[in-house]
Amino acid sequence: MISLWHYARTQQALHRLNLSLEQQVTERTQKAEALARREQARVRLLTFENEKTRVLNDINAELQDCISLNQTFHVLARRLPDLCSPLRGRLYQRVDNGKAYELLTRWGYAGEPESPPRIETPDGPPLHSQIPERHIQGLDQPWSEWQKGVNESLCLWINLQSATEGSLTMALLFVEVPDGFAADGTDYGAARLFQALSQGVQKIGIALSSISLREELQKYSYEDALTGLKNRRYFDQLLEHESAVALRGDQPLSLLIVDIDHFKRFNDTHGHEAGDSALKAVAGVLAQHFRDSDVVCRFGGEEFVIIMAGSTAKAACDKARELAHAVRAMPVEHGGFELGYVTISVGVSSWPECSDSPDSLLGLADRALYRAKEAGRDRVEIS
Ligand code: GH3
Ligand code: MG
Ligand code: MG
Repeated sequence: MISLWHYARTQQALHRLNLSLEQQVTERTQKAEALARREQARVRLLTFENEKTRVLNDINAELQDCISLNQTFHVLARRLPDLCSPLRGRLYQRVDNGKAYELLTRWGYAGEPESPPRIETPDGPPLHSQIPERHIQGLDQPWSEWQKGVNESLCLWINLQSATEGSLTMALLFVEVPDGFAADGTDYGAARLFQALSQGVQKIGIALSSISLREELQKYSYEDALTGLKNRRYFDQLLEHESAVALRGDQPLSLLIVDIDHFKRFNDTHGHEAGDSALKAVAGVLAQHFRDSDVVCRFGGEEFVIIMAGSTAKAACDKARELAHAVRAMPVEHGGFELGYVTISVGVSSWPECSDSPDSLLGLADRALYRAKEAGRDRVEIS
C-alpha cells in the first residue's frame, strides 16, 4: 500500500514537472520567435534606411549638376517619389513670388480624383495644425517641423537661403500618413521614415541654396543694374561663342550697335536722373523688339549691342529700322512728366555678307554707326 501510494505521488509530481517544463519551453520558444521577428524587422528597417540614404545621395548628386533652380525642380519631381515611397504624396513649386504653389507631380494616387493644382498662399506657405503625437514618437525634431496639411497629410517645406531675399520656401512636399502607420507596430517605423524625410528635405534645401547663390552671383556679374539687360562682360563671352557656332554651322550672324543721339544734351537739359529714365525706356523698347534667340546687351553708357544669331543683313537692317522708328515714337517720362523724345543711330554688320570673319563684326558695326552719326543721326547704316 505504502509503495503504491509513493508511486502514485511520484507519478503526479512527474506529471506536474512535465507540464511546467512544457510551459517553460513554450514561453522560451515564443520569446525566441519574438526576438527573431524583431531582428528581422530591424534588418528590414536598416535595409530600408540604407535604400533611402542611397536615394537621397543620388538626388543630391543630381542637384549638384544643376545650373539653375528650374533644373532642380525637374530633378525633385522625378526623384522625390522614390524618396517618399511607400508614402504617397504631392510636390508643389513656388510661383508668383510665393503667393501660390503649383502642383509639379504626385505619386501613389492612380485613378483617384485630382489633387488641387494650385494652393493660394497670400500670407506665406500654409501652416496647419500639428499632426497627432503618435506619428512623432521617436522624433527629436521640433514640433513645428511637422505641419498637418490638407487631406491629413504632412507638409514639409523645402527652404532655401537666398542672398537677397532671405529664407524662401521653394516647394511644399505633402506626404500622406495612412491609418495604422504609427511609429510602433509597423515594419519600419513611421517616425524613422519621417525623420529621414525631414533630414533629406534639409539636405535638399542646402543644395538648392548653393545653386540659388550661384545663380544670383552670376546674374549680378552678367546683368546691368540700371537697365536689367545683359552687360558688356556677357556680350564679350557670348559673341565669341556665337561666332564659333555660326562658323561651325555655316549660319549667318548679325550685330547691331545702337547709340542714343545727343544724349549729353538730354542729360544737360533734363538732369542725370531723367537721363537714366530715358536709358531705361530705350532698353525696354530694345528688349521688347527682339526674339528670345537675339541677345540685347548694354555695351556701356548710352550704347547697346544686339547679337542676332541666324539673321541675314537684310533682316537685321529691317529690325534696326523698326527699332529706330519705335524709339522715335516713344515719349520719355520722368517723375510723372513727359520730357520729349530721343532718337537712336544704329550700325549694322553681318557675316558672311559684310565680312570674311565673324570676329570683325564689332569693328564693322562701330564704323557703320559712325557713318550714321556723320550722316545726321536717327538712321541705320550697314557696313
Ligand atoms: P552722339 O549723338 O554723338 O552720340 O552724342 P552724345 O551726346 O550721345 O554722345 P557723347 O558720347 O558725347 O555723350 C554721351 C552721354 O551719355 C554723356 C554721358 O553723360 C551720358 N551717359 C552715359 N552713361 C550714362 C548713364 O548711365 N546715365 C545717364 N544719365 N547718362 C549717361
Ligand atoms: Mg556714345
Ligand atoms: Mg550718343
